[in-house]
Amino acid sequence: MLFDGKTTAAHILQALEKENILLREEYGRVPCLSVVLVGEDYGSTRYVASCEKNAQRAGLDCRVVRLPESSSEEDVLSTIYSLNEDNNVDGILVQMPLPKHIRQERIVLAISPEKDVDGVTDANVSQLWKQKHNNYSQFCVPCTPRSVMRILKEAEIDLDGRDTVVIGRSNIVGMPVSKLLLNENATVTVCHSHTKDLTALLRQADIIVAAIGKPKFVSAEMVKEGAVVVDVGINTDPATGKMCGDVDTEAVAPKCRLITPVPGGVGQLTICSLMENTMDCFKRLHHG
Ligand code: NDP
Repeated sequence: MLFDGKTTAAHILQALEKENILLREEYGRVPCLSVVLVGEDYGSTRYVASCEKNAQRAGLDCRVVRLPESSSEEDVLSTIYSLNEDNNVDGILVQMPLPKHIRQERIVLAISPEKDVDGVTDANVSQLWKQKHNNYSQFCVPCTPRSVMRILKEAEIDLDGRDTVVIGRSNIVGMPVSKLLLNENATVTVCHSHTKDLTALLRQADIIVAAIGKPKFVSAEMVKEGAVVVDVGINTDPATGKMCGDVDTEAVAPKCRLITPVPGGVGQLTICSLMENTMDCFKRLHHG
């Protein structure tokens, strides 16, 4: 079964739009996401345009602060400080990667944890790691991991005790996904570039989450019959120049109970998670 991210995303955005009509009636405004974009990186510019488009579909306010590539660290910091103070901004997303002369850690530290819609601040990362259960009402879970979990939930995949292999241990995908899966009582093996026999581990897995960044890395021989495969990767296929995932979808799909395509899978839902996280920040601001 090929997961249909486009349809699922459309349903989520429709539900958000309805909710936002009610929020406007009750509070006089809708939740507002502010995206800080420094420079003109191609992938970032496209992603931010997609944020604006999807925010509009969800009935959310989205303001993009565009800063030139030559901006100093201080320029970016002062932008964030003023967004932190702005009572009409509920969520702040600083689009990564930043130009090389700007230290990412310093920028992330400046974001108010209450407005941290991608769960990247130290305060929110530590909240996630302290959490033993799946209650995330007091902070935002990073958007891509949230969308992976949403897909598994939408597809009614039972996670309790299941053999789950996460390939990748980055702070933005692999590690938070692993923690969220553990909180659902999955049995989680986290693999990385030093893992000795990845194929043997994958062949036993009921659920595979691939976040590697290598085109079509996971082949049909690596996957057992009936597995669930969530492909987080966004790569360019060297053979066709088109976007592809970390999984050879065409070859792997016939063996799977569920597989997410690239494009049209995790990425579609990541932007929805961003909108949902902004709504959650707004609601916490008003209801605690
Ligand atoms: P990173 O480069 O930070 O992490 C890649 C991980 O893959 C590392 O942990 C690395 O191991 C591991 N790895 C690399 N080679 C191998 C190998 N041969 N065998 C096993 N593990 C390996 O990438 P990200 O986590 O940032 O992103 C992963 C992918 O997800 C990328 O394609 C990215 O574009 C995509 N992405 C998609 C998003 C979405 O919304 N759809 C959002 C964010 C990312 P080690 O730690 O040892 O180096």
